[in-house]
Amino acid sequence: MSKNIYTGPTFVPADLASNEIPTKYDFEFVTREEWGARTPKQTTNLTTPVPYVVIHHSYVPSACYTRTECARAMRSMQDFHMDKREWWDIGYNFAVGSDGVVYEGRGWTTLGAHSLHFNTVSIGICLIGDWTGELPPSAQLETSKALMKMGVREGYVKADYRLVGHRQVRDTECPGDALFRDVRTWEHFSPRPASAEELVYMDELPKSVRDLLNKSIVKN
Ligand SMILES: [Zn+2]
Repeated sequence: MSKNIYTGPTFVPADLASNEIPTKYDFEFVTREEWGARTPKQTTNLTTPVPYVVIHHSYVPSACYTRTECARAMRSMQDFHMDKREWWDIGYNFAVGSDGVVYEGRGWTTLGAHSLHFNTVSIGICLIGDWTGELPPSAQLETSKALMKMGVREGYVKADYRLVGHRQVRDTECPGDALFRDVRTWEHFSPRPASAEELVYMDELPKSVRDLLNKSIVKN
């Protein structure tokens, strides 16, 4: 037997052995302050718990694998959303990097700008990267799922929430073919709405929004 192989009792770190209480999050969490976010121009409260979660990819910027790269990606998305789109802040409620870390966007309780007409009933999560041709790394996928579980546990997302890809509520390729194929197998995935046209029939949308949609997209 090689003397490199440890044959003693299993090592358990003292702090784990004496403390069985799980940590608050099953993933690392980077706050706005930590990634260097700008102050939002304005904010509106999101009414929670929300009945939907919408999955996005960033397409651009491409995937990030370290804290430094992902913080830079967050700042570039925020700049684009605030300066080019003229939104109040980065559009997403959260983003997840290929490092398996959650990056705080608008958070759980602030209305997002990620899915037109659907923001008032959903939390938007962006998996940073272009997931058209390949799947995100498993750490990124697992953290995204853990984040949704946390949303339910903390009361920000309904226990029977429905999960959709951005393309189901808007004419877009987002969240990429490869990621969307995978999302369809996730817990809580809802095949409805299948397209933006179906939004007019959704009770969760405020009537004012449905009336607007009725006027603008349903013209037969
Ligand atoms: Zn999207």
